[in-house]
Amino acid sequence: MDSELTIIGGGLAGSEAAWQAAERGVRVALFEMRPVRDTPAHVSDRLAELVCSNSMGARSIDRALGLLKEEMRRLDSLIIACAEAAAVPAGGALAVDREFFAQEVTHRIQGHPNIKLCRQEVTRLPLGPTIIATGPLTSDALAEEIVALTGNHQLYFFDAMAPIVEAESIDMEVAFRASRYDRGEQDEGDYINCPLTEAEYTAFMEALLGAEIIPLRDFERGDQRFFEACLPVEVLAARGHESLAFGPLRPVGLTDPRNGRRPYAVVQLRQDNLAATLYNMVGFQTSLRWGEQKRVFRMIPGLENAEFVRYGQMHRNTFINTPRLLDATLRLNTPDADSRPPIWFAGQITGTEGYVGSAMGGLVAGLNAALYLQGQPALAFPPTTMMGALLHYVSNADPQVFQPMKANFGLMPVLEKRVRRKKERYQAYARRALADLQPVVLKHRCNTLD
Ligand SMILES: Cc1cc2nc3c(=O)[nH]c(=O)nc-3n(C[C@H](O)[C@H](O)[C@H](O)COP(=O)(O)OP(=O)(O)OC[C@H]3O[C@@H](n4cnc5c(N)ncnc54)[C@H](O)[C@@H]3O)c2cc1C
Repeated sequence: MDSELTIIGGGLAGSEAAWQAAERGVRVALFEMRPVRDTPAHVSDRLAELVCSNSMGARSIDRALGLLKEEMRRLDSLIIACAEAAAVPAGGALAVDREFFAQEVTHRIQGHPNIKLCRQEVTRLPLGPTIIATGPLTSDALAEEIVALTGNHQLYFFDAMAPIVEAESIDMEVAFRASRYDRGEQDEGDYINCPLTEAEYTAFMEALLGAEIIPLRDFERGDQRFFEACLPVEVLAARGHESLAFGPLRPVGLTDPRNGRRPYAVVQLRQDNLAATLYNMVGFQTSLRWGEQKRVFRMIPGLENAEFVRYGQMHRNTFINTPRLLDATLRLNTPDADSRPPIWFAGQITGTEGYVGSAMGGLVAGLNAALYLQGQPALAFPPTTMMGALLHYVSNADPQVFQPMKANFGLMPVLEKRVRRKKERYQAYARRALADLQPVVLKHRCNTLD
């Protein structure tokens, strides 16, 4: 079979992309390097192996991952169908028997008449239309090719993520808006500042230093220079009692409007999305366990009821600078991209974090590659859908500080009418998302039937 589309990587994203393109009649060559070459985390030769947890998150559509899965289900996702087939009891979550799940994906891919599965490491970029879905553990040789394609400094090997909180959950009776020395572009200040007294700072430091951390695994210890340049907050804190007060929590240039004085220390939060619904904790990249982050960071005045949409993390993760390199259909759109056959990226390598977010990228890239090969216009997803909101985020975030992102309601454009209660607000987001997805679903079905 002569292939029209090459897909590199048979993980969650690559398998979904292959399925979507093949279902539209495109002949696909899917390259997976295992078992010829292993990754440090996978343990089998199966496609779509889940490397850690066996959960794909909540089922209910008023939860971000529940809504994302429902949108994908409506677009005939292979990964969601196989997850349902392999589901095990898990309360409100969709958890799977991981072996049965990966076996099912492998079986369906191998049985598809339009897909040829090649067990081979790809070390050079193919010459025809290609989807790169090699994940957070992309092999070194291909990583070098990606650097050559995208330019230096556009490929990263570690996450150093600070937690992100929902703006609505910050207590603005305590926190205040200001930029240091009032250098903000907006009158009211660009940052949200959480002021600490000396006693609050001391209590916070004690809790931080006593908190449990997630140890790095052997394959994650790698590049120590990275950690020197971007230290986890608890490592910096261990250097001395005042290390944070003179570092990321320094209060210089800030006055607490409640008392007109400079606080002893200040935790700053920086706007993280255009809609200003999400804020990241500046300098708080961390390896603390997630439960510990919630406990310790909620000690910060103003964050007592903070809702964390993403916890801080430090781990091995290969990802590209998507806002600089891709459009919202995940196609490479660098200035010289038109001089060669099209390339799409999909999965964790684009920064759409997590199993379901990765598979979603595969669905979008596979669908758009098929549309391209059939001479049809690309399909962008409405930003009011969870798929569209996540794609919009990764393709439009600030490229200077880009980090992977999980599906969450904070990414969505705010509702026209304010809904105070969180559950009802999320239900309203979900209703709007599924209504706005409907035209895409209809178009998708027409294309599949064609
Ligand atoms: C250690 C670890 C634990 C994680 N735990 C979780 C978790 O619990 N929950 C969660 O939601 N997310 C987790 N993630 C994040 C992410 O969701 C998963 O990594 C997910 O599998 C990403 O899907 P993907 O398709 O992008 O990549 P993968 O599923 O990793 O698939 C990429 C595939 O490409 C292959 N490949 C790589 N290079 C080449 C090459 N040159 N040629 C051919 N094939 C190649 C690999 O063998 C692999 O099969 C974890 C990530 C890591 C690294």
